[in-house]
Amino acid sequence: MNNEDNTNYGLDVNLICEFFMGMDRQGPGSPDMTVKALSFIEGLDERSRIADLGCGTGGQTMTLAEACPAQITAIDNYPGFIDKLNHEVQAKGLQARVNGLVGTMEEPPFEPGSLDLIWCEGAIYNIGFERGIRLWYPLLKEGGYLALTESCWLTEERPKEIHAFWMEGYPEIGTILVKQEQLKQAGYQLVSTFVLPESCWTDNYYQPIATWKETFRAKHPGNRSVEELLRFLELETNMYRRYQAYYGYVFFIAKKC
Ligand code: SAH
Repeated sequence: MNNEDNTNYGLDVNLICEFFMGMDRQGPGSPDMTVKALSFIEGLDERSRIADLGCGTGGQTMTLAEACPAQITAIDNYPGFIDKLNHEVQAKGLQARVNGLVGTMEEPPFEPGSLDLIWCEGAIYNIGFERGIRLWYPLLKEGGYLALTESCWLTEERPKEIHAFWMEGYPEIGTILVKQEQLKQAGYQLVSTFVLPESCWTDNYYQPIATWKETFRAKHPGNRSVEELLRFLELETNMYRRYQAYYGYVFFIAKKC
């Protein structure tokens, strides 16, 4: 989901956001994988500062808040997502240390050298992986961590159809080795890399989309933009079903040194 130019594969981003407001996650992932990535990060305590960039409605923000005692600022540029996140924060009584803010990940509102950890699940592609990791590096303390997911090719070669699909949506998709090299070139030390399991896409993303689609369609009878969005989501789901051997989301955990 890219809010920058108000389109994504030519679709209306506000409509995409309205659709995803109805879901717990806005991208593939799971609480287990968030906790697994967090397990590679040492030394977090109640004074540690975490920024969760492109947080959406805060699925992973809540997991982080429950799994560690740090201060968390969650940033997204879609105000509806931040409203939903802050409601959840209030409901869980976490407002003393978890805060959602409307803002852009291109200019996160943090002082240089102030963060112990930058988290970003399924969102860095909005500004581009290489640009993002370089832009965020100065915000980390020495020894601070970056943990993010990025869509990667899992093989060196792939069928033309899936290649073309990604070239239209995110031409910066690359192999795991390419992304690791970019992290090293940007000054990070690699800590861990793992591929998200299929269930993060199917059970936690495409299945909830399929269920919510019918309710959303019923709320917008005869709306052509809605039909276009739902057709695109079906296309994306089918692409994953057919070509999942060739691409996936990969968690990268890296350290500023
Ligand atoms: N981390 C969440 C959401 C991923 S979807 C999850 O995994 O469920 C990508 C998110 O990035 C969306 O919530 C979208 O609104 C947000 N986004 C897009 N461009 C952005 C930008 N420039 N700055 C901040 N957030 C942005």
